[in-house]
Amino acid sequence: MTRTITILGATGSIGASTLDLIRRERGKWRVVALTANCQAEELARLAREFSAEVAVVADEASLPALREALAGSGITSAGGAEALVEAAARPADITLAAIVGCAGLAPTMAAIEQGRTVALANKEALVSAGDVMLAAVRKHGATLLPVDSEHNAIFQCLAGNSYEHVRSITLTASGGPFRDWDAEQLAAATPAQAIKHPNWDMGAKISVDSATMFNKGLELIEAHHLFPVGLEKLRIVVHPQSVVHSMVEYRDGSTLAQLGPSDMRVPIASCLAWPERMETPCAPLDLAALGELTFRAPDEVRFPATRLCRQAAEAGGAVPAVLNAANEVAVAAFLGGQVSFTRIAVMVETMISRYEPAAPASLDDVIAVDAEARVLARELLELA
Ligand code: NDP
Repeated sequence: MTRTITILGATGSIGASTLDLIRRERGKWRVVALTANCQAEELARLAREFSAEVAVVADEASLPALREALAGSGITSAGGAEALVEAAARPADITLAAIVGCAGLAPTMAAIEQGRTVALANKEALVSAGDVMLAAVRKHGATLLPVDSEHNAIFQCLAGNSYEHVRSITLTASGGPFRDWDAEQLAAATPAQAIKHPNWDMGAKISVDSATMFNKGLELIEAHHLFPVGLEKLRIVVHPQSVVHSMVEYRDGSTLAQLGPSDMRVPIASCLAWPERMETPCAPLDLAALGELTFRAPDEVRFPATRLCRQAAEAGGAVPAVLNAANEVAVAAFLGGQVSFTRIAVMVETMISRYEPAAPASLDDVIAVDAEARVLARELLELA
């Protein structure tokens, strides 16, 4: 039977991994919509290859290039924020939410509001809009499947068990490219060094988040929403080999872990086939060749991000949205050479201590908090 899929953020790293899996099972899938921000030609190439019904660029200025690249193909093209939301609301059996940043929130919510199955990679959307998004999932009967490798691992380890028996959930962290760097080296870290992750091949923003450990902090908030066992039961352990993707400990002392290669096609495949399984081209795990798996406690002095994220999750309300917006602005400034690596966490801490808007009750509220926090974070940058 053919299944239909929409991929939000098709031109990114997660988009590419998803399309690689679809390409291997072409006869089983029909592509509804593919979206990008501004990479019009790449989007058009993918839309043609996968005979998508619609291709959408969020950046309206990129629409003429998309139209030209799709001329004669019969594929509908559109541009702008509204077009993105309309594409996300089109009927599809599964929607892969893989836009980077809070920019993915509105289209992801559009798919949820249609009661769709949403495979969520876009962690910033859940961090910013956690309560609002989960309320919409419940109200519209949508299904949220976690793509993030850690959350996908936890989701698999929880299958068939109940939250009341969970003693703790441990998220593993590679520690990023700077895990053994001292404070002086961290202060001088360059964007090129930060985006060179030792284990994973990812987009620039998440690679920087991985280097600062904000990625793990955002994942802590994500886990807090997806697996409601209580923040005090959520732990983080540094595991440089990225083979154990996360684990769940039960009250009888059993710990279930999910292991696999550092390849996002594994968790993506788990979502695409759920509740079944599908083939991936990933090499089988060879534990003897790996030799050893090591674990250590995170260092929150050199990497304050996980402490700040836990603090934001405890505070709840608008604080996680402010934290996320500040981090997005700070990461963009770091990648643009405007601020140092260590300034990212300082900026985020300043923002969450200074700006406390009311708890958002709707999607529009979250978008307003996000927009205002970005303005304030940019002002803070200029003052620095
Ligand atoms: P990339 O930067 O590789 O891709 C981002 C995608 O989002 C691109 O298609 C991009 O379009 C699109 N996009 C960027 N900005 C906007 C915008 N303002 N409006 C609409 N679309 C936009 O990111 P990744 O694939 O690495 O990550 C995507 C999400 O998945 C992130 O939330 C990340 O945290 C999460 N994730 C990623 C993992 C990974 O291994 N990469 C692992 C786990 C989670 P364009 O190409 O035109 O710029």
